[in-house]
Amino acid sequence: MSLPRLRLGISTCLLGENVRYDGGHKRNAFLMDTLGEYVTWVSVCPEVEIGMSTPRPPIRLERANGDGVRLVMPDSGDDLTDRMTTYSERRVEALRDEHLSGYVLKSGSPSCGMERVRLYDANGVPSRDGVGLFADALLTYMPQLPVEEEGRLNDARLRENFITRIFARARWLALSDTGFTISGLMEYHARHKYLLMSRNPSAARELGRLLATAPRGAGEVATLATDYEQQFSEALRKLPSRGRHTNVLQHLAGYVSDDIDRGDRTELTEAIEGYRAGLVPLIVPVVLIRHYVRRLDVEYLADQVYLNPHPYELMLLNHV
Ligand code: SF4
Repeated sequence: MSLPRLRLGISTCLLGENVRYDGGHKRNAFLMDTLGEYVTWVSVCPEVEIGMSTPRPPIRLERANGDGVRLVMPDSGDDLTDRMTTYSERRVEALRDEHLSGYVLKSGSPSCGMERVRLYDANGVPSRDGVGLFADALLTYMPQLPVEEEGRLNDARLRENFITRIFARARWLALSDTGFTISGLMEYHARHKYLLMSRNPSAARELGRLLATAPRGAGEVATLATDYEQQFSEALRKLPSRGRHTNVLQHLAGYVSDDIDRGDRTELTEAIEGYRAGLVPLIVPVVLIRHYVRRLDVEYLADQVYLNPHPYELMLLNHV
């Protein structure tokens, strides 16, 4: 099964470019040196793109008594809110044509941070309730896009789930390029069935029902695809639990266990049980099942994304 090349949006400073207010960068080694091999980056520095210099005085989010959130430059008192809001809406509109499979934002920034950004009250006391203005526009106008902050990607489970989501979205965009058909949507759903079950079994069933009962008229496929995309991306947002993975692994093992000998069956059961107990990583039972699927030529499982969600070389299943 070939994996599509990704186009990902990214905060420019994470690429190692000196665009930060202090003239520096925040190069992220995992994104550049590991994931970067599979990615064409589309970089955006909102502060530079609204015309600010580098270096520049720092800016921050403020909320004075009951007012909305403002983006201000404390040194000068300049208010950049309208400039940044107008820019962000236009920029995100343009990004909708960029074929992005996901976006990685710089955490903590009053422009790029997607959560827990410092928000100062009228007394200059910060809380961690803010969202950067550009990030806010991105999350609002591209709700289906997988978005993460670079800091959160240090967590193995969040990282694995984000990368699973961006490859699923790349496959979705590839399907979209060929033109949506009922059979294309059915095939996409079939390939992602166990992946969905590992995240959200009820959403997996609901999506299956949506496709099975949808009107078949030519004009209705586009609406169906929009509904499917929305529910699918929502379902994949949920982090998979060890219990859910174990259920899926047992289900998949059921397709091969009758055709392998007792020793192999015991080994497979122990691998799944070892994963459930936290003794071995997910890659151990997944590789075993993948091996039997190939050896026994189990056609129904051969294309399951669950068994091959992202490039093996990223070793993401070794850490969850
Ligand atoms: S966090 Fe965003 S605005 Fe700040 S330097 Fe990085 S890309 Fe530019």
